[in-house]
Amino acid sequence: MSYGVRKDFYHSKAWKLVRKNVWLKQNLLCNRCKRPVYVDGLSEWIPKGNRRTGIVHHKEYLDNSNVYDDSITLDENNLEGVCKWCHEHLCHNTDMVTRKEYTFDDEGNLIPRE
Ligand SMILES: [Zn+2]
Ligand SMILES: [Zn+2]
Repeated sequence: MSYGVRKDFYHSKAWKLVRKNVWLKQNLLCNRCKRPVYVDGLSEWIPKGNRRTGIVHHKEYLDNSNVYDDSITLDENNLEGVCKWCHEHLCHNTDMVTRKEYTFDDEGNLIPRE
């Protein structure tokens, strides 16, 4: 399967389905801090003040060499649902981000800088 440019991956049907499964398995709770998360289409019912944006983290970081590899991108064993705060502070060491090689996109996904 080809996702064209990397950005397309996060909008692919396959990713959205896998991401949803991860959240349903975790009952919409961050795997690190156990707070409820907000996920499009799944947790509108959770009051805004009580939720953080949910991110599905790739334990093996995605980069341009593996973003087309389904066994990395879509394998639930490589995925962890976390809130945006834990994602930035616990899942990714901030060094990596401050080294300016990586950044977060609008949805909080870690992406290599262009
Ligand atoms: Zn969290
Ligand atoms: Zn991540």
